[in-house]
Amino acid sequence: MAFWPRRGGRLGGETGMAEGLRAIDCDVHPMVPGMRVLIPYMDQFWADQVVERGITTLDTQSWPVHAPKTIRPDWRGANGRGADRVELLRAQALDRFGADIAILNPLYGVQLVFNEDMANAFTRALNDWVRAEWLDRDERLRASIVIPMHNVEHAVAEIERLAPDRRFVQVLSLVMGETPLGRRHYWPVYEACVRHGLPFGIHAGSAYRHPQTSVGWTSWYFEEYAANQQAFQSTLASLITEGVLTKFPALRVVLLESGVTWLPAFLWRLQKVWKGVRFEIPWVDRPPAELVRDQVRLTVQPLDAPDDADVVQRLLDHLRSEEMLLWASDWPHWQFDGVAAEPGEPNPAVPPGLPEALLPKLMRDNPLATYPRLREGEKA
Ligand code: ZN
Repeated sequence: MAFWPRRGGRLGGETGMAEGLRAIDCDVHPMVPGMRVLIPYMDQFWADQVVERGITTLDTQSWPVHAPKTIRPDWRGANGRGADRVELLRAQALDRFGADIAILNPLYGVQLVFNEDMANAFTRALNDWVRAEWLDRDERLRASIVIPMHNVEHAVAEIERLAPDRRFVQVLSLVMGETPLGRRHYWPVYEACVRHGLPFGIHAGSAYRHPQTSVGWTSWYFEEYAANQQAFQSTLASLITEGVLTKFPALRVVLLESGVTWLPAFLWRLQKVWKGVRFEIPWVDRPPAELVRDQVRLTVQPLDAPDDADVVQRLLDHLRSEEMLLWASDWPHWQFDGVAAEPGEPNPAVPPGLPEALLPKLMRDNPLATYPRLREGEKA
């Protein structure tokens, strides 16, 4: 089964960099080795604070780095860590899975600390570390702008600071924050996204301001990971209900590592309820499912579907869109087995059951349509 679109095909009138692209990996995670590597990217005050507070070894990842889900066992180094150098990304994912472009989504939770000035300083350092240690070292890489969402002024300032560098192609938030993401006080962030042609990416994960489920705190990581689906549903409902998608029709929202198969049933319920109580939200003047199909995209790793092409096809039929899904490997998270992928062989980073005819759209056309900056020929 040949998964690879042939090289050299022209992409719908696109020019420059888009010419001949095969695949765009929309979700990979550079792992920060530790707070100490960010210190050189902080101003003197915050560099001193990190040392004086004794947090040079602070690990702000919400999931333990040694958990099997965090980094696949065969992608770890001798110290049990991994995914912290661009060389590893090249060898383990880019070259292996044939990505011509990959979008870096750092999940090192420095933006979540309660001190807003500290969160701002740490986030700036994280983004600058990504730029120097990753973007500058491989032309195939792009990145999301991590923002301290709990302070909108800081969040917008960070977008403005980095938007001139066209290698930043998205703005990144976690799905579980302080308040639902549709709330009005966040709208300056969405204005900034539209102003700069940057999709708003929402990745699985919590800022731990609230329990990870609507019924309380979980005891186990297992529960928490599964609970992200509830959070994505509530977030999508918030973006629709508060009017974000109607107020900003040019905004594209990308759900990252959200799973996919929950969406059709949720949209069905949302649409049914909207018909009954739409008088409450007159600004939502189109069926919610239409808004989602036009403006929301999802990465397919994980797909959360059985290994059955008929079942996957039914899911696609229920989505009623071939534009919504984006390919991602989710490197280095352990979402799939198998590593070998040569041209002409199945790519293990593509969930099984997806029709082969759809793969060029998932791997190339849909990402190019979602991320305007990927269609540009040159970086700043
Ligand atoms: Zn991910």
